[in-house]
Amino acid sequence: MLTPLEVENRLERILLKVQKPGRYIGGEMNIVVKEWDRVKTRLALVFPDIYDIGISNLGLQILYDLVNQRPDALAERAYAPWVDMEGLMRSNGIPLYSLESKHPLADFDILGFSLPYETLYTNTLNLLDLAGIPLRAADRGASDPLIIAGGHACFNPEPMYAFIDAFVIGEGEEVLLEIIDTHQRAKRAGLTREAMLLELAGIPGVYVPLFYDVKYLEDGTPASITPSVPGVPRTVVKRMVAKLPPPTTRFLVPNIDVVHNRVSIEVMRGCTRGCRFCQAGMITRPVRERSVDEIVAASQAAVDATGAEELALLSLSSSDYTDIVELVTKIGEKFGDKHLSVSLPSLRIDTVSVALMEKLEDRRSGGFTLAPEAATERMRRIINKYITDEQLLETARQVYSRGWVNIKLYFMIGHPSETIEDVQAIADLCKRVLAEGRKVLGNKAKVHAGVSTFIPKPHTPFQWVSIDTAEQIKAKQTLLMHELRGSAFKLSWTLPEDTLLEGWLSRGDRRMAEVVYSAWKNGTKFDAWQDQRNFDAWTGAFTAQKLDPAFYTHRPRRADEVFPWEHISDTVRRKYLYNDYLRSLSGAIHPDCRENCDACGILPTFANTRREYPGIYWKCPEVRSPASRKLAVPKGG
Ligand code: SF4
Repeated sequence: MLTPLEVENRLERILLKVQKPGRYIGGEMNIVVKEWDRVKTRLALVFPDIYDIGISNLGLQILYDLVNQRPDALAERAYAPWVDMEGLMRSNGIPLYSLESKHPLADFDILGFSLPYETLYTNTLNLLDLAGIPLRAADRGASDPLIIAGGHACFNPEPMYAFIDAFVIGEGEEVLLEIIDTHQRAKRAGLTREAMLLELAGIPGVYVPLFYDVKYLEDGTPASITPSVPGVPRTVVKRMVAKLPPPTTRFLVPNIDVVHNRVSIEVMRGCTRGCRFCQAGMITRPVRERSVDEIVAASQAAVDATGAEELALLSLSSSDYTDIVELVTKIGEKFGDKHLSVSLPSLRIDTVSVALMEKLEDRRSGGFTLAPEAATERMRRIINKYITDEQLLETARQVYSRGWVNIKLYFMIGHPSETIEDVQAIADLCKRVLAEGRKVLGNKAKVHAGVSTFIPKPHTPFQWVSIDTAEQIKAKQTLLMHELRGSAFKLSWTLPEDTLLEGWLSRGDRRMAEVVYSAWKNGTKFDAWQDQRNFDAWTGAFTAQKLDPAFYTHRPRRADEVFPWEHISDTVRRKYLYNDYLRSLSGAIHPDCRENCDACGILPTFANTRREYPGIYWKCPEVRSPASRKLAVPKGG
């Protein structure tokens, strides 16, 4: 393996030949470079897409900051080199290396891959290959790094089970430190790799696929997923931090233009709206909030530490933050005259949101985003994102009359029980919104319809339903293209191939790992990039593995089907999800569960944690101690 100096020397020969060499050199403001030999654990955090996207990943920045606070460990970073750089790295014998110290990744103790979405899987294989590390967990030995992965996609880890030693299920802040501790103890004790993995499997929230067996029924669905050794949990329950830790403020500042050059402060985690298509809303429960003062102070510290001109206040549903008006007022007071652009994503469709945005947004050019997701009230009941058409139109009127020229409307096609009339309604609603704009702005008003295709995700009420076929998707998209013509409209959509690919991987089982491997061998990577991914490589991989892709996408699941992710728990009960799916079929909606707890199942698992953190941070009901419950039993009861 090359030394860091040799890596640097070889890099000098190639960097001027590639696009954006700044992606590959590190040296950013707030970078942490520790002395390699003075720590016990060296961790490389890897985002398997290019620097321009990975640098702003908040999860990775949090973990980078957290691990580097430990005197006995260091965290460095690596991203996927773009194809030009990868070609030159391979031809010049340069393995994947870290930006901080230029050490080859194979020199690290642990590689932590961030897998927020499934289309990063082939890149993960490609990066392991570029690093010279055996791709399969079974082929790795004592001198190879431990390969771990975390992120939302890992709530169904099975399509990657063959390549990852241990998955982190849920929030990483505490568990990553426990993995480092365990790894250090295992090293000190001279444990074999398998014994070390067994230790890791004992950490709550860590899933080591090596210790689980999957059996299948004749119809190809799983019959059971069970531990193969004693002492590992039958179900791996997600990790969740009871109280959000102080936000990261020392953000890395990229040296080049990137997709989001901004600092991000997480306002709250979790969501209780219960949109039935939304995996993030289910797997990140419960809602935990930060205080207004903490957010404002962290925003100031982050801006001071980076000189940022853009601040993102992140959450899954900003309008639901308890003190949103106070927060926006205080942020406005603090930064109003500082030319700081503040974004507040995922606002509810109501006039309060327009007023909030008006306080923050000094540029109207970017457009105002509303995400009704469906265009008929019937369909919005089915997905449990209920608003009336009139609420939407009134909000649109307010947006246009306050100076925004362009409204972006996000929809999905392919929701369960959708008819062609529901798709036609998307076009009709866009026209009605534009008509409101024209009343105020004349021909200047614009509507941008972003129409993606619904993909059922694990751990949601819709995990039982099938995905539209490519032909159905194309027919719906053709209708919209025909209807939304003219310069006032812009229409964007997701290609059916991208929908199918994500659909196969989202609900894939262990057999899908060989499809991922074959697809990568067939030449696909950067599957999140339309101009890079090779769809034929995927269909060829299914053929080679004798698997039918339609099995994963175009098939409603039996009510009692064992899912490939059955042994992974986000603590929302399966029965709750199924009942909610049945409720959707009758158009029954349920409001924000903070107002009326829907008993989703998380509290029985986290009852003790909830008791330890009573009051305002959690938005679920208080859990009484067993003693007080006993006291509450009526006489004779
Ligand atoms: S426990 Fe109740 S309030 Fe908390 S997330 Fe579940 S349904 Fe909502």
